[in-house]
Amino acid sequence: MSLSFDQMLQNYADLAVRIGVGLQPGQRLMLRAPVECAPLTRLVVDKAYQAGARLVEVLWGDEQTTLSRYLHAPRDSFDEIPTAAPDYLLKGSERGDAVLSIYAADPDLLKDQDPGLVAQVQKQAQIYLKPFSRRISSKEINWSIVAAPVTAWARKVFPDQGEDEAAQSLWEAIFRICRADRPDPVAAWNEHLDALKQRRAYLNGKSYAKLHYRAPGTDLTLGMPAGQVWLGGTSHTPGGVAFVANMPTEEVFAAPHRLEAEGTVAATKPLSYAGSLIEGFRLRFAGGKVVEATAEKNEQVLKHLLDTDEGATRLGEVALVPHSSPISASGLLFYNTLYDENASCHLALGRAYRICIDGGETLSDEDFLAAGGNDSLTHVDFMIGSDAMDIDGITPAGDAEPIMRAGEWVFEA
Ligand code: ZN
Ligand code: ZN
Repeated sequence: MSLSFDQMLQNYADLAVRIGVGLQPGQRLMLRAPVECAPLTRLVVDKAYQAGARLVEVLWGDEQTTLSRYLHAPRDSFDEIPTAAPDYLLKGSERGDAVLSIYAADPDLLKDQDPGLVAQVQKQAQIYLKPFSRRISSKEINWSIVAAPVTAWARKVFPDQGEDEAAQSLWEAIFRICRADRPDPVAAWNEHLDALKQRRAYLNGKSYAKLHYRAPGTDLTLGMPAGQVWLGGTSHTPGGVAFVANMPTEEVFAAPHRLEAEGTVAATKPLSYAGSLIEGFRLRFAGGKVVEATAEKNEQVLKHLLDTDEGATRLGEVALVPHSSPISASGLLFYNTLYDENASCHLALGRAYRICIDGGETLSDEDFLAAGGNDSLTHVDFMIGSDAMDIDGITPAGDAEPIMRAGEWVFEA
């Protein structure tokens, strides 16, 4: 007995508010949403008020107006950035508002635009948003990101289908992966979050000195910092509000030591970044730093990413996801990091989450770096997992213990 589309959409909006952002009665909600996703957005606003929101403010976005700028604006104007949205987000986060982002993007939006200009805008925006990003990455407020289909994205995932059919197919995939098709979606999520909690407890108990990855094209050793903290599933604000920052989420993750990555890693999925797809890329690390980067497609975009700043050439996240995750099982490539990262073991170039090092929230910038944490304007996940990946944990005494074999956990959490 399957649920109707409308029921699943209701479930999805409800999950975003209750499990995702964990909205508290009396709290204000800042909701970022694309104009194309107005029906879901309105439903989320309803659910938020029903959950006790004091005020919901919607910040509408529109990718077509972003594209218009690249097509028509003077070339010397790209050091300027729109500030209304960042100002609003910073102000709200200082007040303790929750933030929910409905993320829906055309992965090819900017593919024909000058990558230099795209990188310039990206960097200016990241500089301007830094105080807000800091609050988000230290989980000072409850926040979440959920996805919704827009036509261009749906057509990219289902290229053989017409507009309406592709959007329908993408919705069905989203509902299944986010458990909105279950009779009791909240209970299904609580069970899933419990399994993630047990995995991260196991890895925290082990506190491996190093992780060693082997797969076709990959032979990589990551040093782990002292005081490493594995996280995943539920996060908590300092005030104890539980939230799930990404929906879906299948990962447990930590921060590798910024100076201790050695060897080569091959990406196993294309990376959708700055409106382009970087495909078939490999990175070689020495002393924690990328010393060689090649890509079969859009190598220049990859180079621009690495040029963001020093920290963009180092790793800020290591995440473990079994190959049998529901996203991987769907067999689909989503061209959207929120989905693809949760199909696969991944790493991130750039900023580490402060909470991945014990006491990291209260360390000065210098002390966080000294503890092995990475800092950067950027944080970009890329996928490296497959059914051919083996991962060992190396104990402080130097013994290797299996963590994953052929892409699956080898211990029962
Ligand atoms: Zn991740
Ligand atoms: Zn990440």
